[in-house]
Amino acid sequence: MFWHEQIETLDCPALQALQLKRLRETVGRLERVPFYRGKFLAAGLKPEDIKSPADVRRLPFTTAADLRENYPDGLLAVSREEVLRLHTSSGTTGKPKALFFSRRDVETAAELIARALCMTGVTRRDVFQNMMSYGLFTGGLVMHYGAEKVGCMVIPAGPGTSERQLLLMQDFRTTVVHILPSYALYFADFLEKKGVDPRKSLALRKAFVGAEPHTEETRRNIEAALGVDVYNSYGLTEMNGPGVAFECEGKCGMHVWEDNFVLEIINPATGEPVADGQPGELVLTSINREAMPLLRYRTRDLTSIIPGPCACGRTHRRIHRITGRSDDMLIVRGVNIFPQQIERVLMGMPQIGRNYLIQLEGLDDMTVKVELSPAAFDGQVGHLAELQHQVEEKLRAELWLRPKVDLVASGSLPVAEGKAKRVIDKRSL
Ligand code: ADP
Ligand code: ZN
Repeated sequence: MFWHEQIETLDCPALQALQLKRLRETVGRLERVPFYRGKFLAAGLKPEDIKSPADVRRLPFTTAADLRENYPDGLLAVSREEVLRLHTSSGTTGKPKALFFSRRDVETAAELIARALCMTGVTRRDVFQNMMSYGLFTGGLVMHYGAEKVGCMVIPAGPGTSERQLLLMQDFRTTVVHILPSYALYFADFLEKKGVDPRKSLALRKAFVGAEPHTEETRRNIEAALGVDVYNSYGLTEMNGPGVAFECEGKCGMHVWEDNFVLEIINPATGEPVADGQPGELVLTSINREAMPLLRYRTRDLTSIIPGPCACGRTHRRIHRITGRSDDMLIVRGVNIFPQQIERVLMGMPQIGRNYLIQLEGLDDMTVKVELSPAAFDGQVGHLAELQHQVEEKLRAELWLRPKVDLVASGSLPVAEGKAKRVIDKRSL
């Protein structure tokens, strides 16, 4: 199903023409922002110099540090009266970054979500329970208004309080949820412990999960546990929040709404583009925002472009699920490790539960604390020692380093209300 079929299936020349028009307008708009004006002047650059979307490469990068240095409103491109809303990032990696929305930006953000929900078959008959935090975090309000635009009945549940979430799901026959993957795993455990079989007693059919990196194995785990189709949803505050890239029904990569964002994948070390299909850092330029467009924003998220057309007929290119942030990488005993590598191994093992924690201590010691699945423990210590050995071996094969594995009881590791904190680094290096 399409929300706006004509835009979603624009052929390549038409899409590029639209991108060019919007990119030029955006550069013109940003001449009012001293930060960008200075950079354009230094490079002798005018909006007319942009002759194709590929000329985006002539523009300067914008980094998270630029946003922080220009905090609170140094990058605002409209007058204060034109601002309708403020959001900030959740601050996973330091001081929050502020993003302003004009009335049109608020409407566009909702439209991009509506497209995304619609392409997975969500309709006005759905009951949409938004289990993301409301407030400054975009995952609450931005998604909320998108689901309302589709015409769903939206339940602004917010995160946490699993008992209440379940009650809402049962009483109002929730069909779609928007949820953090880490919370979805926790919620699956909660249902299992309560003996609630979601296939029998709930009406859930779809879950949109995002805001955190997660693996294909985690998706399958959530799908099996909750009896839903899980769609990956990607976004970041700096680009409206959710709605930047979503999976269609094929679940084969996330379409980036290219009429709103110019997409680049670069080598993070050199800033040069990589070939299609090659992994690198996602760089986005928002070309359809009024209040605070950003040029070539360095997301630090690692992904690749999936070459070729998608069976759904949409022409907007797809990116692979995010494999991590460039600043997520851990270096342990000289080995580069992404937390997702560990997650992939753990989520692929049925005896293993749904929560884990990576601890780095001492000189360079890594311990992975792993919850057992509620059903795994049969009380035999020998069985546990064998399982621990198996997990250590599988991690060694994936990481080229053998971490210590601690198997702990289901439900014993901390659970965050917001994004999961998977790594505690207390090394004295
Ligand atoms: P913060 O950077 O403080 O976490 P945001 O709430 O804006 O602020 O989070 C955006 C970030 O969340 C993205 O840059 C990305 O790292 C992560 N993220 C969002 N959606 C996904 C997703 N579907 N898969 C992986 N990571 C995601
Ligand atoms: Zn598709």
